[in-house]
Parts: sequence; structure tokens; C-alpha cells
Amino acid sequence: MKPALFLDRDGIIIHDHGYNKNPEEVRLIDNIQSLISFFRNQDFLVFIITNQSGIGRTWISLDDYYQVSKRMLELLTFKPQAIDHIFFAPYFEASPIGSDLAKTNLEFYHSEWGVNQSGQWSTSWRKPNPGMLLEANNKYGPINFSNSVIIGDRVTDLLAGYHAGIRKGYLKINSPEPGQNHVIDLEEFNHFKNKHEGQFELVHSYNDIVCENN
Ligand SMILES: [Mg+2]
Repeated sequence: MKPALFLDRDGIIIHDHGYNKNPEEVRLIDNIQSLISFFRNQDFLVFIITNQSGIGRTWISLDDYYQVSKRMLELLTFKPQAIDHIFFAPYFEASPIGSDLAKTNLEFYHSEWGVNQSGQWSTSWRKPNPGMLLEANNKYGPINFSNSVIIGDRVTDLLAGYHAGIRKGYLKINSPEPGQNHVIDLEEFNHFKNKHEGQFELVHSYNDIVCENN
């Protein structure tokens, strides 16, 4: 069973401008390439799991999302392939875990829709729910979740990993971007850390993660 590295997209692989929609503005976060290479070289699967509620809100189009993701993949130069699969959740309402219904998967580039039996978008995919990680397991597994790693810039990212069985995660602290109103809520993180078993740390740089796992 292979472990996997699960990465959020906005704020983790590329800078988060708030509902990224312009491919020309896509810039990689410092050292993300060496981070991915490090885990790839240890035979980790690598997945992106990204909430994209801007699509459900109709603030960004599916094509905007596609173009930004395409540009990101062009910039990630690890060969033969930096990322195994991108899963995205276009929904804008959270739902309780447990509503994971059968999905009709429509291939869209490297990405997937989640559609439930009623033909509605399934919100079990939206983090903090673990639907996207479980789908990665269905598609590429069995994944060794207990040796896997999750990296995000929100506690909800870590929670999605936790709900799938991951016990090692990092919350990346970024300097705020223009147009970005999200800042790390340290109180929320500390509450999460105290309540959940595992190794969950704050990091300012991907070098810290590489050093710690070397
Ligand atoms: Mg993010």
C-alpha cells in the first residue's frame, strides 16, 4: 500500500488571490516543486484536493477553473508527472459526513465531478468532508492513509485528512495576498490540534517539512 501526499491547491501550490480565475496570474508557491519531488522520490502518490465553491457560487466558471489548473500543471515540471490526479469540489454548502452517495464520474481533464444518485452535486466531497480522499483511494488505492501526509492552509484541509485516517499534517502560513481575506486562525488550529491525535504542525516553509521528514 502506497502512502499519498494530499495537497490543497490555492495557497499551497499556487498563490491564493481569492477565487483564482486568471491563468496569467498563476504563480507557484516557493519550493513547492522540491516538496513534491521529495515525496515523489519516496514513492508517494500525489493528489490535489481543492474546494472550488466559486464555481457553485457562479463567481468563477468551470473554464476559469480549468485554465488555472492547466497553467499550474504547466508550471509543475517534475517528470514524468508531478500530480497523479486533481479532485475538486465545486459546491458551496457544507454537508455532514455520511451522505456519500454513489457518484457518476465525468472525466474533466485531471479533475472529477462528484454527482450523487439524484444527479445533484455531492457535498461529501467538500472539505472538511473526506470524499475527495476516499475517491482517490477508490481510484488509486488502497492508500496507506496512516502513513500519508496532508498539507493545507486551513484547518478544514487537515480535518478532511483526519476524517480519512491521516495523522500527519501541516498548516502552511502564508503572507496575505492582495484580495485575500483569509488569515490563519491560530485559535482554531490549536483547538484542532488539542482535540485530534496525530502530528499536526504549523509551517512557514516547505523546507521545514522536507527537513523534518528526511
Ligand atoms: Mg487553500
